[in-house]
Amino acid sequence: GVAFLDGQYVPMSEAKISVLDWGFLHSDATYDTVHVWNGAFFRLDLHIERFFGGLERLRMSIPFDRAGVTQVLHNCVALSGHRAAYVEMLCTRGASPTFSRDPRDAINRFMAFAVQFGSVANPEQLERGLHVSISQRMRIPPVSIDPAVKNYHWLDLVRGLYDAYDNNAETALLLDFNGNVAEGPGFNVFAAKDGRLSTPATGVLPGITRRSVFDLCAEAGLVAEALDVSVEALLGADEVFITSTAGGIMPVTKIDSKAVGNGKVGPITTKLKDAYWAKHDDPAWT
Ligand code: PMP
Repeated sequence: GVAFLDGQYVPMSEAKISVLDWGFLHSDATYDTVHVWNGAFFRLDLHIERFFGGLERLRMSIPFDRAGVTQVLHNCVALSGHRAAYVEMLCTRGASPTFSRDPRDAINRFMAFAVQFGSVANPEQLERGLHVSISQRMRIPPVSIDPAVKNYHWLDLVRGLYDAYDNNAETALLLDFNGNVAEGPGFNVFAAKDGRLSTPATGVLPGITRRSVFDLCAEAGLVAEALDVSVEALLGADEVFITSTAGGIMPVTKIDSKAVGNGKVGPITTKLKDAYWAKHDDPAWT
């Protein structure tokens, strides 16, 4: 892979930051990830928009506008030579030259990189559906409760993952402050019941793959709503799937050793997943 940092393109192994960087010390950073498929970015404009929204909320500034960041990302991918890439743009608070505790003294650091795309779910998992465990831990949205800021805070999600592994599941779903379903380590979740889809409305990252599901549903004439999703509603769903940039639309067929629906990947999930990948050849979406 190739990284861009301090104005230069370097091999990933040379992309290093100071341990005094507040991104490292305090998770004081924001980032976004986007994928490249067959050499083309997928919905890059939406990822750039979310990234700039995070920068603004965190009062960080970078020496590039949207077009400049887009160019840096294209260059990283071209230099990496990957036709399928996982691309990240990030900005940390940086470090203060005087080691002061005032964030205004820190010099914000913009970086980007492109590495080989590796899906979070393997073909066998996509075929049979993932096994998920509901963690009793709460997802604490990063940056107090402004989940629209995409941040590296994952302590709760990682602890949820270990809970899941202890329960012989492959990944975890965490709850929100009211005990409803929130999100998991790197993904949003959807439930389908009687042909209608729902996904948690609040306390979750507004995922771009989640947004893509809404767009695909609108095109397919399916009803999809953002609302509170209780644990009972999830367990009683006909179909469940999770969504992320790094995995697309991924079926879930078992939750805490209980089969979802008939335990097989369902027709709505399959239809949306196929439509999602078909959009990778649609210029309007790339
Ligand atoms: N929730 C969290 C906590 C995430 O980290 C991610 C992806 N990084 C998502 C949801 C999914 O978002 P997207 O579809 O934009 O990748």
